[in-house]
Amino acid sequence: MLKLGLDIDSVVCEMIPTVLQKVNTKHRTALTKKDIIDWNMETSQFKLYNEIIDTFDDMNIMLGLPPVLGAKPALRILAEDFELIFITTRPKEYAQQTKRWVWSMLAVDGSEIHHVERDKNGIDVDILVDDNLGNVFKFAGQGKPAIVFDQPWNSEKAFLERVSIFWKDWAERPIHRAHGWLGVGGALFTIYEVAEKYCGDR
Ligand SMILES: [Mg+2]
Repeated sequence: MLKLGLDIDSVVCEMIPTVLQKVNTKHRTALTKKDIIDWNMETSQFKLYNEIIDTFDDMNIMLGLPPVLGAKPALRILAEDFELIFITTRPKEYAQQTKRWVWSMLAVDGSEIHHVERDKNGIDVDILVDDNLGNVFKFAGQGKPAIVFDQPWNSEKAFLERVSIFWKDWAERPIHRAHGWLGVGGALFTIYEVAEKYCGDR
């Protein structure tokens, strides 16, 4: 079985809107994801890093973070054909609740979750899905297929043009699986396509 590496935040876990809601209430602003245009998670007014950590620190909020739209049904299909391996840069101290979140929100086995400091290349997977362009480039640099889950903070479109595979959500277009499943999404389609094209019969 091919090993599918999945980033967690902003790929399967919709974390930023919850963080922004807190910031907006506190500062009477109306920021949305589109206002975050760079990788430092800064808007023109705020640095969000501390707010993100605060969100993880509050167990109830953290466990209640919604999945990215369409991620849950897509992952349940993918779990039949791929070994799902989550790779996150969330600090290791959040390992327990991250595992609980994966199980309760995505209904897939969260037993393989790697917490890494920065580099995701050290984890043995065949394909990586990530919203971080740096991670994607590094992974692709090993000659393996990497897929960008595009987000507004990937604003360096010059870089994006060098990436041939990216999508914006899990539910772009419906597909039919061979065994009659009505699948969900361009993302899913892309993963199967990539697996076939780049990973051959492995
Ligand atoms: Mg991410």
